[in-house]
Amino acid sequence: MLPLPDFQQLIRDLNQNLPLNQNGLINDLRKWMGPYKMNLPRKSEIWKVYKSMVDSGAIQGNPELENLLRKRAIRTISGVAPITVMTAPLSCPKNCLYCPTERNMPKSYLSNQPAAMRAVLSDFDPGAQTSSRLKALHQNGHSTDKIEIIINGGTWSAHPRAYQTWYIKKIFEACNHYDVTKVIGEGIAESGEAKNIIRKKLITGHKIEERLQSEDDSVLIPKLLEEQKINETGQNRVIGITLETRPDTISAEELARMRMLGATKVEIGVQTLYQDIADLNRREQCVQDVKDATKLLKDAGFKVAFHMMPAMYGSTPERDIEMFRTLFADPDLKPDFLKIYPCLVVKDSDLYEIFKKGDFKPYSTKTLTDVIIAAKQFVPRYCRISRLHRDIPTESIEGGCTVTNLREIIQKELKKRGLVCQCIRCREPKKLMAKEDEVKLSVQEIAVNDTKEFFLSYESLDEKTIYAFCRLRLPSPTNSGVVRAIPELAGAALIRELHTYGKLIPIGDKNNTESAQHMGFGRRLMAEAEKIAREHGITKMAVIAGIGVREYYAKLGYELEGTYMVKKIRS
Ligand code: SF4
Repeated sequence: MLPLPDFQQLIRDLNQNLPLNQNGLINDLRKWMGPYKMNLPRKSEIWKVYKSMVDSGAIQGNPELENLLRKRAIRTISGVAPITVMTAPLSCPKNCLYCPTERNMPKSYLSNQPAAMRAVLSDFDPGAQTSSRLKALHQNGHSTDKIEIIINGGTWSAHPRAYQTWYIKKIFEACNHYDVTKVIGEGIAESGEAKNIIRKKLITGHKIEERLQSEDDSVLIPKLLEEQKINETGQNRVIGITLETRPDTISAEELARMRMLGATKVEIGVQTLYQDIADLNRREQCVQDVKDATKLLKDAGFKVAFHMMPAMYGSTPERDIEMFRTLFADPDLKPDFLKIYPCLVVKDSDLYEIFKKGDFKPYSTKTLTDVIIAAKQFVPRYCRISRLHRDIPTESIEGGCTVTNLREIIQKELKKRGLVCQCIRCREPKKLMAKEDEVKLSVQEIAVNDTKEFFLSYESLDEKTIYAFCRLRLPSPTNSGVVRAIPELAGAALIRELHTYGKLIPIGDKNNTESAQHMGFGRRLMAEAEKIAREHGITKMAVIAGIGVREYYAKLGYELEGTYMVKKIRS
């Protein structure tokens, strides 16, 4: 029989060779405990031994080790580490009534929002923003082997093309060549001096001119593709990029370009489905723009998120509720994700003037809660409500909901009324382990115009928990515009999303059996999707794979064709 582990020796070893971060600590513990064939000790147990050694004078206190031992392992439930970055304050061609326009800030964002503060402090440099977030994620115990990049900053498609390419190239460079010792400025956003620095920068402007006059797009594109290639097998893999734009900027050619950049998801500002309200708020778009954009995006395999704005100037609670019903009843809409951003009045907007005159009365928190609860009853099982409120600091809100825990209030109220929300987010697993006999495959056909979509998911037997899902779209007979711009999609069924939940585990780590990601849910869903496609006479599958997951699909027999991972399937 092996002797029991000597935890005092473990502490000495850790003290001498300090792990870099939480992952390093776990790896070291695994190696150290390997011979004993026992579970890893809890951090609290190690902490106890450490403290007693320090107290008895056996070792000197080591603040860095203490920091590692104190840190709670943070669970990234959605399986990927999100990094939000912001583009420079370039002009948006529109002038929506409610949109804040702060000097030297991207339209629609305020300089005291957390992501905006980080962006201003780094002069909107995407590389610096990315590195700084990578460092923060590591320090907080997150693994960053799978990253989703979310690019904020208003209408992406309105930015100059060379700027777009340069911007995304810098993000990939930051992920590929991340060097913790070269990251500067982290933590400054939380420091007292941050506000002063930001105030100055908002007056003097940012150092962005040289980026706008940077190299030609044709020179930048090969460099971007080179970085993407490196990222396919890199340490910090970009598994998806989300862009936000207006529906009327979407065309098949624009989508082909977004694919070249590596984008996998597009958030479009819909806000309202009523033309009179859109006009009143100077949205300069119509519902048909939204429908056209949604079809193009789905035909090209993108995940589609809608930003919706209840409580707009000119709306009523009844119309808002009806709007959410239409959103999921109309086969031309049906977003995969929803961000509900109730209208807020902020000073740097034209709506503020109307509000000051008393001509606009925002909903009370109670009314807004009622509207959102009613809206949630229409949200189907295939949709994820990602946000319920914009993260605008309370001190900047002149009118509208100022509670910061709206989601919590709504959850409590739902429970009180005996209602449930069945959106994906409300069913994400709290417990990461799922046994084979505790899950079932569910296949839901979604009624869409001129083709078929399927939502495949592995769920608990009571359907209250979702462990993994896949969005399959059969090729539409009216997708010729997209196929002209993206020929590799001709005749192909599309995997628009494959997602498994669980604790974030470094790629290649097979020891951890806690996560659905290592239980083969992904492979099973892909096989099921291929089967459905075959049954419909389809012989080709195309996955809108992020750069960092190309390797995963290659293992399933897919090959890179254009910007998609593609596989021939026998019908
Ligand atoms: S389109 Fe978006 S960024 Fe442009 S003005 Fe309207 S809300 Fe603001």
